[in-house]
Amino acid sequence: MRVARAVAVAVATVVLLSTTGAGGAPRPPARDPKTQVVDVSTPTRADKERLQQLGLDLTEHGDADSLEVVLYGEDDDRRLRDAGFTYTVRIGDLAARDAANRQADAQYAAATTASPLPSGRDSYRHLADYERELAELAKDHPTLARPITLNHRSWEGRSITGIEITREPDAEDGKPVFLMLGAHHAREWPSAEHSIEFAYDLIRGYGHDARTTALVDTTRTIVIPVVNPDGFVVSREARPGAASQEFSKHDFEMKRKNCRDVVGACDRRTRLSGVDLNRNYGGLWGGSGASPSVSSDVYRGPAPFSEPEVQGIRELIASRQVAVLVSNHTYSNLILRVPGTIAQGFPQEEPQAAALGEQMASRNGYDSIPGFGLYDTTGSTEDWSFWTAGALSYTFEIGPSEFHPPYETGVVAEYLGLSPAAGAGGGGNRAAYFDALEATANSSLHAVLTGTAPSGSRLSLTKTFETATSPVCADDFCNHVGEAQTFEDTLTSEMVTAGGAFTWHVNPSTRPIVAGRHGREPLAPAQPTITMVNDPAVVPEENIHYPWSPTPSRIDPPYETFQFEVKDPPTADNERVGVHIEWSDPATDWDLYLLDAAGELVTASALWGDNDEDVTLFDPAPGVYTAVVVSYDQADRTFDDWSGEVTFTGPSPATSGAEEAWLFRCETSDGVVVVGEIVVDRGQTVDLGQACGRSE
Ligand SMILES: [Zn+2]
Repeated sequence: MRVARAVAVAVATVVLLSTTGAGGAPRPPARDPKTQVVDVSTPTRADKERLQQLGLDLTEHGDADSLEVVLYGEDDDRRLRDAGFTYTVRIGDLAARDAANRQADAQYAAATTASPLPSGRDSYRHLADYERELAELAKDHPTLARPITLNHRSWEGRSITGIEITREPDAEDGKPVFLMLGAHHAREWPSAEHSIEFAYDLIRGYGHDARTTALVDTTRTIVIPVVNPDGFVVSREARPGAASQEFSKHDFEMKRKNCRDVVGACDRRTRLSGVDLNRNYGGLWGGSGASPSVSSDVYRGPAPFSEPEVQGIRELIASRQVAVLVSNHTYSNLILRVPGTIAQGFPQEEPQAAALGEQMASRNGYDSIPGFGLYDTTGSTEDWSFWTAGALSYTFEIGPSEFHPPYETGVVAEYLGLSPAAGAGGGGNRAAYFDALEATANSSLHAVLTGTAPSGSRLSLTKTFETATSPVCADDFCNHVGEAQTFEDTLTSEMVTAGGAFTWHVNPSTRPIVAGRHGREPLAPAQPTITMVNDPAVVPEENIHYPWSPTPSRIDPPYETFQFEVKDPPTADNERVGVHIEWSDPATDWDLYLLDAAGELVTASALWGDNDEDVTLFDPAPGVYTAVVVSYDQADRTFDDWSGEVTFTGPSPATSGAEEAWLFRCETSDGVVVVGEIVVDRGQTVDLGQACGRSE
């Protein structure tokens, strides 16, 4: 189990690198107005955060050394260069690539009678296809499926539709619920394709495949393939000439957000209008990794849950006791779980959440990591659906590259686990979704209420409470942080008994946000603090060039170094190691880089306008590390030398918070009402006996 997979953290209060400006090493200006996909060198977490704040279109793809960005011409390119970033071009002309992909799609469709997908589909659907097929599936299989429409229409008035799949779908029968979502982000077409194909899988497999039949009998799956229909239509239907001359077909095809503020003109304004629906959920809303700027690709919206599309999903989850949730996106070959920010800490469910993530990752070949693994994000679906409603929640970032690659690779191969997908031979996303559905059926991962009640009794569980957002960032750089906001949340769900014994699959009564945090008992003391040795006789030259380069990994001299060893149990148990250096004058600037035993950069801190630098590693591998200290700038002729120390922190034991109860209510068909409080933990079954005061 990888709790934090080499997640390296530079603790930073100021997030401007000292390489900004004349001292950096910008690459020559590009004169190409084409849309490019580039890998921007971001060796540290501070670099990644700083890149996020430039307002560019990040793809959510990246690794330890780089993040991928879409550049829409010279302005974007200049912004990147002015900030001192360097990059390598991955796709030189994205519009041309998209055109080639669609040509490949046309050839695949022409050569294919029926694809191996459950539906046999051989090309990307349009919104009308989704609506028609969902309606037909429900109509043709009334004992297995029924249509569902969210409570709120989109800004442009579209219904947001889906399907519920279980045996006897109209019964309010208390089965555990699996919720699958697609296309929060308009351009991520495969996310919607994957979602509807799973609906086909369950319906077509019922009665033919024993595992599918058993799961459909015992669980309820709700699939909403297109959460953002307005944006999806703009992206999917982008045509040459549809836009003003200022914006290309490709520009609209790359739309990510919804159509707030451009109702009726969403395909005639910039693709940048609207709200990022996956930054608009109320849990942790407003913090880092989301933007208050309306023109940002990650605009969080004016308030938590301000968007009708997100409000519809919120009300669905709040009324359905969702045990497991998968929200599909493209791309990065990732399975992300909570938390979205490091500061939130891991929930008590981290072992189970990580184990299910790893299990699913074994099918699709993706990396299973916490949401903050690349950089912090806030306001995403799962940080509300989990911390507030208790659903084990995951984001799938489908595929290795491109928002809507050729259908054959991006949908058929990824869904079924065929070459060239990372899950080739492992079952692909199809198998991962079945794992999620198995986990939904597994009552040790949620809670169960049992008892007896007269036939037709209506049982309900309710809870109303205040949910807090993140402390709200006032600007893109999050230099000014305001108070957290609070809003009222109500969870309320119902089941109707069939007479005699009943079983109701529910989420724990205590919200994960208050239940406490995961931790472990130390196996040994943490290491004692090490004072860093800095020979005062050594006066290094200033090194004002951005000194680290990724390939090959190296730091250019001049610099000073200090080596220290990180030990592991039984000698020492360190959950974190921190390196701190400081000096006198904030106008002087020292930078700090940390290399592991192999000489690879693991983290760095290169801020300015302050008189210290800090880096932190979580769960550090044992070995000899090297701190590299670079004199970026000396303020005056008196040499302002650094001093420093390496500190170690042991693991935090688990914490537990207050216990919460569901408010339980039973109303029998002849009007008798019983009310009480129920406390039930994850993995627990509580027997309510005669829950309505009698059983006949
Ligand atoms: Zn997305």
